[in-house]
Amino acid sequence: MIISLEKAVELIRSGDVVAIPTETVYGLAADAFHPEAVKKTFTLKGRPPENPLIVHISSFEQLEGLAESIPEEAHRLAETFWPGPLTLVLNKKPVVPDIVTAGLPTVAVRMPDHPLTCKLIERTGPLTAPSANRSGSPSPTRARHILEDYQSEVAVLDGGQSEIGLESTVLDLTSSERCILRPGFITAEMISTKTGIRVTHQTENIKQNSKSPGTRYTHYKPKALVFWLDEVPKSFEDKSYYLLHSKNISVSQKNVHSYEGNFHAFARGLYDHFRTADHLSYSQIFVEKLPEESAHPLIFALKDRLDRAISS
Ligand code: AMP
Ligand code: MG
Repeated sequence: MIISLEKAVELIRSGDVVAIPTETVYGLAADAFHPEAVKKTFTLKGRPPENPLIVHISSFEQLEGLAESIPEEAHRLAETFWPGPLTLVLNKKPVVPDIVTAGLPTVAVRMPDHPLTCKLIERTGPLTAPSANRSGSPSPTRARHILEDYQSEVAVLDGGQSEIGLESTVLDLTSSERCILRPGFITAEMISTKTGIRVTHQTENIKQNSKSPGTRYTHYKPKALVFWLDEVPKSFEDKSYYLLHSKNISVSQKNVHSYEGNFHAFARGLYDHFRTADHLSYSQIFVEKLPEESAHPLIFALKDRLDRAISS
């Protein structure tokens, strides 16, 4: 059911959950200071309780209410990238319910860049908002994706298609090494160029014991099997779904989508294509192999999501 902003405020205040638009993906929002409401999001999603949530805020003052011993870098990063797709992991204040952080002493916080959701948070206060898919299906980037997953079970604030289409970059600021736990639109290079802060990436062998429990799960998978395509074929099989990005390939068919070097549009459409392919009962999705990371800032995050969709 699509609802108004007024209704969303009312539902959140009464301890209910509402799906909300953000520039990354849609989130399943609850009052961050209402443990019972937050619990409903875990139950509805089927999310493992050990996977903590990101708290969404609309002002810097709200950050002070959630985190303590905030390093100076956090202010610089927030000033540069908020509102935007960068989540900061900080030491939590005791007032943040344990269910939000899955018992961790840290809390993940970000200020989303979406006018409707900012208005909502201004009126409700901080909201937890995991991606609004059922655990196991791709993150929703349109209101109708939530209706597909939940039918009338979840009320949706419709804010149009998510502009970025991939989940936020998660940056840990609680240990001396500033480390990206989940890659996203904001890259290590952008952070260092714009703020002078040096950040590293979580290496593959420590991912299994990641400080970001969510990165241990393969929750970016469609039902169809996903494969890398080393070379774009001359002709396309009707029974398979294709996602291409090469500049010199322009095909538009129900099952073949080419982005001609536009990686923003490619990322924005990725989960939508996963869902469409499932909806149309394709059993295989072929994705053209991505170029080197230096080719575009989104390649690192796209590789991360696609590697998860493809492996295991
Ligand atoms: P989602 O809400 O589905 O986009 O997932 C949120 C991501 O943020 C998951 O990968 C979580 O593991 C991560 N996250 C949330 N809180 C923390 C935290 N306190 N420390 C590290 N990672 C976190
Ligand atoms: Mg998710």
